[in-house]
Amino acid sequence: MKTIHVQTGRSYDILIEHNLLQQAGTYIRPLTKAIRAAVVSDSHVAPLYAERVMCSLKEHGFETSLFTFEAGEERKRLSTIEQMYQHFLEHHLTRTDIVVALGGGVTGDMAGYAAATYLRGVDFVQIPTSLLSQVDSSVGGKTGVDLPGGKNLVGAFWQPILVLIDPETLQTLPPAFFRDGLGEVVKYGCIRSLSLFERLEQEEARSFIDDIIYECVTIKRNVVENDERDTGERAILNFGHTLGHAIEKLGHYTGMTHGEAVAAGASILTRITEANGWTAAGTTERLVRLLKKYDLPTESPYPLSDVATATRGDKKSSGNSITLVCLKEIGSCFLQKVPFDTLTELLAEQG
Ligand code: MG
Repeated sequence: MKTIHVQTGRSYDILIEHNLLQQAGTYIRPLTKAIRAAVVSDSHVAPLYAERVMCSLKEHGFETSLFTFEAGEERKRLSTIEQMYQHFLEHHLTRTDIVVALGGGVTGDMAGYAAATYLRGVDFVQIPTSLLSQVDSSVGGKTGVDLPGGKNLVGAFWQPILVLIDPETLQTLPPAFFRDGLGEVVKYGCIRSLSLFERLEQEEARSFIDDIIYECVTIKRNVVENDERDTGERAILNFGHTLGHAIEKLGHYTGMTHGEAVAAGASILTRITEANGWTAAGTTERLVRLLKKYDLPTESPYPLSDVATATRGDKKSSGNSITLVCLKEIGSCFLQKVPFDTLTELLAEQG
């Protein structure tokens, strides 16, 4: 078993081990006096894994209930949260009980937000089952829902009491979802780990996926510990995201997946920063080659002028400027604040 300790306002452990799902109760029980555990999952994941998690919880003395919602980003909204609260009430969840998020990023974000706000906050456990949520969204304590005007516009920082990562769940993950996670994995290599990037070049990701999860989570832990509330260094985790979010928005969130859009955003931005002399020569070519190896996109399906316009609603913007995460070279990055007009010009030069 690999353990990563996270020292934020509330400290907790992230455990990585095969077949952890059926041992969930073993690891959760010592951390809580809860009588009830409400498991939150979606219509894809619940039929696969809810039974074994709930069995283990029952074995360790929890009264369990299951709240399931229809899978998909479209459900990540306040009306689903309200249904969750209703479920918690009907099952008499009290201030000392727990919520268990079982699923991908949408499930973790929503169950976390419901836990952060129900009765002004109850404990919750993250059991991420997709690669994207295992390497990224389950770590760091960001929870929330979308509004019609944009993604993750309502939320709270709420750290889990435990994160259980079972890489066995990736066996059932369709290739598109695996790619989705790999977009974020390549991001971690780009911003902080040349050795991870090189290994992704030399080997097949699936053959060392446990090491990948461990390395990505460790990088994210280190960043989040320094900047829990996202006011400084944490911004580097958004490499590829400014343009990626714009591409996702232009596709009305039904085109590219998040990880694919991040891959495209990272390539386009690096092409610009390399042309501008901010990034070491040859970096873009190397990044594009790796992304292509894993069938990830490296171009925008939309005109870059539209992408530029769509960046203006980005959460990372302030006034007329936006902070970009740029690569110095593979494995090393820096933040650069640029006016929107400059970004628009730079994108226009790329056509
Ligand atoms: Mg992301």
